[in-house]
Amino acid sequence: MSFEKLKLIKPIQQAVQEEGYKIPTPIQKQAIPVILDRRDILGCAQTGTGKTAAFAIPILQILSEDKEEHKGKRTIKSLIVTPTRELAIQIGESFNAYGRHTGLTNAVIYGGVSQKAQTDKLMHGIDILIATPGRLLDLMHQKYVNLHHIKLFVLDEADRMLDMGFIHDVHMIIAKLPTKRQSLFFSATMPPEIIKLANSILTQPVSIDITPEFKTVEAIKQAVYYVSKSDKKKLLYHILRNEKITSALVFTRTKHGANQVCKYLTDSKVSAEVIHSGKSQNARQRALNNFKSLQTKVLVATDIAARGIDIERLSHVFNYDIPNIPETYVHRIGRTGRAGLGGIALSFCEEEERAYLKDIIKLIKIQIPVIHEHPYKVNPDSSQKPQQHKEKSTFTEKTGSQKKSGSSGYFKNKKKRWGRKPNTNKTKI
Ligand code: AMP
Repeated sequence: MSFEKLKLIKPIQQAVQEEGYKIPTPIQKQAIPVILDRRDILGCAQTGTGKTAAFAIPILQILSEDKEEHKGKRTIKSLIVTPTRELAIQIGESFNAYGRHTGLTNAVIYGGVSQKAQTDKLMHGIDILIATPGRLLDLMHQKYVNLHHIKLFVLDEADRMLDMGFIHDVHMIIAKLPTKRQSLFFSATMPPEIIKLANSILTQPVSIDITPEFKTVEAIKQAVYYVSKSDKKKLLYHILRNEKITSALVFTRTKHGANQVCKYLTDSKVSAEVIHSGKSQNARQRALNNFKSLQTKVLVATDIAARGIDIERLSHVFNYDIPNIPETYVHRIGRTGRAGLGGIALSFCEEEERAYLKDIIKLIKIQIPVIHEHPYKVNPDSSQKPQQHKEKSTFTEKTGSQKKSGSSGYFKNKKKRWGRKPNTNKTKI
């Protein structure tokens, strides 16, 4: 199916073409006609599925078609609430891209920075508002934001809102929305609390389910290294020396851990930056931009800071610490393999983390291959001490052979890869 079949208006059709998109992703195919039909949606979809365009494109189309109603100062007609600043910025960029020929305007508001530039934009009048919950409530209280004219409301990454403790804020925002509205609800997972929230927001929604139950993106190659805690930094450095790694996102459990890993790498002359909630918004954005533009090779991040960041050409994700929540593993490795691209996810498992790894394998229902040959290996079946640097690493060769056997085109022909079959393994909600 091509984008033409989705009956998009010319200005949006043109923008989509300029973005280089040829085939709608499964979620776009399903969601766009339903949203254009003015129905509510309960969408279960991971990031990296093309979810943003699935809601941004029809919102732009609906607002374009209804445009003549609004003369004088623009009122906010669509509100998108998303948990993190990085996601808000990315969604804003998507609206700018797909809406560039529509004349519709948007603002992105998030905390951690001065509100002046944001309130200036709001005072000017905008059509679409993209916001994180805290700053939105703040500016609502200060009367910079009026939600009376909202026709289309999107709650993005609802499960993460819950994880991050934003549910109360979300309820307060929803209470201020007009009851007559169209609502689109997206979540990567559907635990009972999220279903309850969805039921309180949506009216006779159409369910769209793209995510197989916690199955990892099939294009991602995964592997695990058994290593002692004290050798993890050295192992990371050892792997990064492999010049084929152009861009690596390294996950640590804590901010402190992230800082330590980053320092070790920079001291070892590997270009690295860190991104976590202890950093100012400007520092985070700068680090992200440097990473996206490949000026920095390694970005060390905690889960919340990295949630949803959309980086093209990300070749490797490292689970420097194994997450204790198995779903987090899926979210993490989903940073690579985006938009149908391939990628490599490597996990460092120390003695105490083996139970976490077991839970992950249970969840994803596939065995993660073990890389045995590396200088810091420990025996996975016992609590042996690491062997000293006896062996030469074969990781480089392994990676090279992996590449030869099918990954050479990962970052080429990106747009064609949407042709792959949508996964029909549906989540029960
Ligand atoms: P998202 O799931 O919204 O974060 O999107 C992930 C990535 O997919 C982004 O980099 C988009 O630019 C890209 N993308 C979205 N839709 C398409 C499409 N139909 N064809 C190719 N790339 C797409």
